[in-house]
Amino acid sequence: MKITLIAHDNKKDSLIQFVTAYRDILAEHSLYATGTTGQRVIDETGLPVTRFRSGPLGGDQQIGSMIADNDMDMIIFFRDPLTAQPHEPDVSALIRLCDVYQIPLATNMGTAEVLLKGLQEGFIDWRLIEERRN
Ligand code: PGA
Repeated sequence: MKITLIAHDNKKDSLIQFVTAYRDILAEHSLYATGTTGQRVIDETGLPVTRFRSGPLGGDQQIGSMIADNDMDMIIFFRDPLTAQPHEPDVSALIRLCDVYQIPLATNMGTAEVLLKGLQEGFIDWRLIEERRN
């Protein structure tokens, strides 16, 4: 599975803690990230990550493009709900595309934990449901 990791600046420490805690599960998948988040994950966990541009410079839109191409399976996006972001339209667009394409999206650590545990147990089979429907 292709999993994207993104964290706003005030949430980057939390994301690193989360990735460290769930390293074994995440290591089995292909990881993608916006620029600064990805560099921190690489430096602080040693996991391989494909990095896009920084979020404010178009990284969220690059990930949205992968979603639109049916080429991304899960988004873990630790948003900062207390700080205005200059690229809020891009953030909204990314979240919207997750809903358009039924991509599992966690915007906080609690949901991210449930998603990864579900992934580990093999509970996430929405792609099969979509295929059956089409
Ligand atoms: P960053 O982007 O990982 O480059 O900081 C994240 C964001 O703010 O969207």
